[in-house]
Amino acid sequence: MLKDQDRIFTNLYNDKGTDVEASKKRGDWNNTKEFCEKGKDWIINEIKSSELRGRGGAGFPTGLKWSFCPKEISNRPHYLVINADESEPGTCKDRDILRFEPQKLIEGCFIASYAVNAHVCYIYIRGEYFNEGKKLQEAIDEAYEKKLIGKNACGTNWDLDIYIHYGAGAYICGEETALLESLEGNKGQPRLKPPFPALIGLYGCPTIINNVETIAVVPTILRRGAKWFSSLGKPKNTGTKIFCISGNVNNPCNVEEEMGIPLKDLIQIHAGGVTGGWENLQAVIPGGSSMPLLPKKICETITMDFDSLIKEKSGLGTAGIVVINNDQDIIKCMARIARFYKHESCGQCTPCREGSGWMWRMLERMGKGEASKDEVDMLMDVTKQIEGHTICAFGEGSAWPVQGLLRHFKKEIEKRNNFNPLIERNKNIPYLVDQHLLDKDNA
Ligand code: SF4
Repeated sequence: MLKDQDRIFTNLYNDKGTDVEASKKRGDWNNTKEFCEKGKDWIINEIKSSELRGRGGAGFPTGLKWSFCPKEISNRPHYLVINADESEPGTCKDRDILRFEPQKLIEGCFIASYAVNAHVCYIYIRGEYFNEGKKLQEAIDEAYEKKLIGKNACGTNWDLDIYIHYGAGAYICGEETALLESLEGNKGQPRLKPPFPALIGLYGCPTIINNVETIAVVPTILRRGAKWFSSLGKPKNTGTKIFCISGNVNNPCNVEEEMGIPLKDLIQIHAGGVTGGWENLQAVIPGGSSMPLLPKKICETITMDFDSLIKEKSGLGTAGIVVINNDQDIIKCMARIARFYKHESCGQCTPCREGSGWMWRMLERMGKGEASKDEVDMLMDVTKQIEGHTICAFGEGSAWPVQGLLRHFKKEIEKRNNFNPLIERNKNIPYLVDQHLLDKDNA
């Protein structure tokens, strides 16, 4: 369990105030100028040795990402972009940072911008976070007033302007290149990579894009040292993390804990246990809806870090933990998730655009017990034809939850559908068209 003295987000429950004065008392904006005086390389190396990995889902090493940004500024300005789109179902950690710990984020923006030679930082926030955006704007205005950002920010001779940009609610705009497109005023559709944004990003200029939580922990890492941060958690899975626990638990919550904490402890201790008791647990989605679910047997022992979850063919993702107990129909739960992805596909790639709808329709049939035997293998085949064949990771994000269901609950599907040869699929009805579902979807 994380000790109180190792907590980074000490106002996660908004009991200590969010203004600059209250934040300074908690350590924010202390020694910021001194960090800058130690130089950009020192900052980047410190973040590298802390082994901080991005908290937005992919888990890419943050210091390494920063080091990809050109050292010298050419005729193209550098940008820092903060991804506050937070649209992954089951995830609401950045929301609490935006409204309760905004100064941590703003200080992190300043330090990161300084390190990557950016004078302009955009915070791309989902449109639904209107109140959070207002709180953040107030915090930015106060930071300008106190000369913590703006001209000669913190007395460092470095100028930094921070702008908030509201998205319009598309899930795909959380994908970094779709976010850049949207920020430029275009349709939010992912770009092909390479080139990566560190070299060709916003307006074709070098751009570093980081998640809110990633940037908000940077000042504390510098203040307390990379060694302190890397002493928490596990090797290559260091530090602390905000976990969001929702679904069938007695006390849904956001909690900061050490990386590598057992999932069972998070649910039983912090979230008040599974509704109906631990024995009533059916499965857990460990990292937001795009990560494959884990059945109860694995949940008994799994620890919450990037590498342990990959070994179990799932992922830490955004650490949005969704608990599903035996009162839920697991096939219908996954059908609902599949419908979400079908709705949110940007439509650029055929496997994603067509496959996401295909998966949803098959799952709907399976949930009703109307699927035929060959559809189970075909469903897995469809997920494999999406995975790895698309422009962005949305393809995997839509296919993996279905693969998780087939991996762990195949028997449930077989039992439900009974596969009676008398109700064998009518081969005259193509898989792609299931008119009554389409009508329902368009209703
Ligand atoms: Fe769009 Fe899906 Fe292709 Fe991503 S994978 S670019 S969301 S169609």
